[in-house]
Amino acid sequence: MQLLHFTYPAVILKSGRDKSVRGRHPRLFSGSIRSIEGKPRDGDVVDVRANTGEWLARGIINQQAQTAVRLLTWDESESIDDDFWRRRVDQAIARRARDPLLAGTSARRLIFGESDGLPGVIVDDYAGYLVVQFSTLAAARVKQILVEALVAALSPRCILERSDDERLKHERLAPARGLLFGDLPAGLIDIFENGLQFKVDVQAGQKTGFYLDQRENRARVARYCSGADVLNVFAYTGAFGVYAAARSARSVIHVDSSREALRLAEVNHSLQPMSACAVTYQAADAFEYLRACRAQGMQFDVVILDPPKFAHTPAQIDRAARAYKDLNRVGFGVVRPGGILATFSCSGVVDSALFQKIIFSAALESARDAQVIERLTQASDHPVLLSFPESEYLKGLVCRVL
Ligand code: SAH
Repeated sequence: MQLLHFTYPAVILKSGRDKSVRGRHPRLFSGSIRSIEGKPRDGDVVDVRANTGEWLARGIINQQAQTAVRLLTWDESESIDDDFWRRRVDQAIARRARDPLLAGTSARRLIFGESDGLPGVIVDDYAGYLVVQFSTLAAARVKQILVEALVAALSPRCILERSDDERLKHERLAPARGLLFGDLPAGLIDIFENGLQFKVDVQAGQKTGFYLDQRENRARVARYCSGADVLNVFAYTGAFGVYAAARSARSVIHVDSSREALRLAEVNHSLQPMSACAVTYQAADAFEYLRACRAQGMQFDVVILDPPKFAHTPAQIDRAARAYKDLNRVGFGVVRPGGILATFSCSGVVDSALFQKIIFSAALESARDAQVIERLTQASDHPVLLSFPESEYLKGLVCRVL
């Protein structure tokens, strides 16, 4: 029997509520807790025990949040000290360094929250400029240690915090953003991805600046774009269209409601040498633009639909399903016979089976037959943790529209 040199307050589960903890699910909800012993304060380390007293796991408590404990280890001999956090950071970085799928890119997600054993921690690396999000109390409490670990491991040019206000609110935390280390970049940051150049605005861009999770999917969808007329809907800074142009698309139309994003899309196209592709930019609502195309009988060889998250909670699934169906119905309508619809959802609560059903209804309502020829997911630097299926959020279907 090993001697433990640390003791933590304990969270005792209700009887029959130990299954998810035993299954190493990293979130413990307040409804599963029978009692709390030892008066922990929010942000403290606690042991989680079954109602029999059996030790199950260890994590950080926040009684202000619905997720009362963020579980960190299932090894009773592992203490949650500064070394613990450094180790987790180093391990996450080392995994990316060994990942062959990340060889051709200078921008990658180094830490993906629970999937890397660091609940609430997101770290994106844009060619040495790190953009971070700390969206749980557990993460916020050890921010300084995490920053020091990142500096020691990577010697970054800067660490910029852009935590998500909404997620912080769920943990009863105030907005947090600003420079944590180094100097702010003077302007846009140059990155390359699969051999293509992009500029990223890490300070004012959406999320941390670039949608890294779509990296592989951009390459896959681009293979259908040789000689094609491409409609890139929800274009953001144009990444899908830049890949398409590099694959000799005939034309690309980018549609996005954000003029700033489209301005950067134009810059990104200008970085690609000598493309003969005709590129246009439409600052418009995607639904209205697609309806206008359909009304005018415009059709494309490849249509890409990459909307923002429509459902954030299970309660929003029905409404989101209708929005995805409406969007894809008009989407199908503007694909030429034999062409491709590449359609995505980044709503984690809409799983891939439901998403496929929604796309089927959309095809049916637009009276088009379609075949699924590829199923797409998030890039490998956003790994899906098997014990945490919720970490799988991005799904895509490449459909051949008959
Ligand atoms: N495909 C992009 C990422 C898209 S993110 C890439 O690979 O980088 C979703 C985009 O949808 C954002 O740029 C946002 O500005 C845009 N958007 C959100 N609602 C919209 C709407 N109703 N119409 C058009 N664009 C919208």
